[in-house]
Amino acid sequence: MAWASSGYHPTQMTIACPACRGPALFRRIRGLRLTSPEAIARLGALAHFQIIEDGHGLPIALYRYGLGAPLPENIPELTPAEARELSMTGPWPPHRDEGSVVCETCGHRAAHRVNWPAEAFYQVEHRGEVLWAWNRGQAEALLRLAESPGMKPQEDRIHGDFLKRVPTGFFTAKARDAVARKLRRCLESHP
Ligand SMILES: [Zn+2]
Repeated sequence: MAWASSGYHPTQMTIACPACRGPALFRRIRGLRLTSPEAIARLGALAHFQIIEDGHGLPIALYRYGLGAPLPENIPELTPAEARELSMTGPWPPHRDEGSVVCETCGHRAAHRVNWPAEAFYQVEHRGEVLWAWNRGQAEALLRLAESPGMKPQEDRIHGDFLKRVPTGFFTAKARDAVARKLRRCLESHP
């Protein structure tokens, strides 16, 4: 289960919407380290931030995308450096799976804790193993690989690093037709 995920944590991925099961965008929470009492007071007064302490008792402002808050660069109370850091910095491990989900299909938007890869929207099961992708582009790359006997993962310039980590058992001569069929069905369920 841990195959393509070890050591790699993209900031966003497509999950099955908790409300309608369609494709929904999950974005990981962002954290901004606060280094002054002034910053703690300033951000603590804003509804879009949740101030917590990290494992060492240091304050961090958490921010979730897509829940009605302006984007970091549009929050006037943030300094430009803070807005930049908030956009760039990923969450640290204890909060890595927290974030928000936004579904364009049914309008669901909520704070969410992701259970990956169980909640991956792009996933197919083959002989008890689950093949999944972080997003549609990767799922399409998996399909191309399954449909192309002799193709090597690294031949895909965009998704090669991802494809290289996928267990080769999904792409054997015996498996590839069934895997391609299931991937196609998954992709066509929400074009
Ligand atoms: Zn939905």
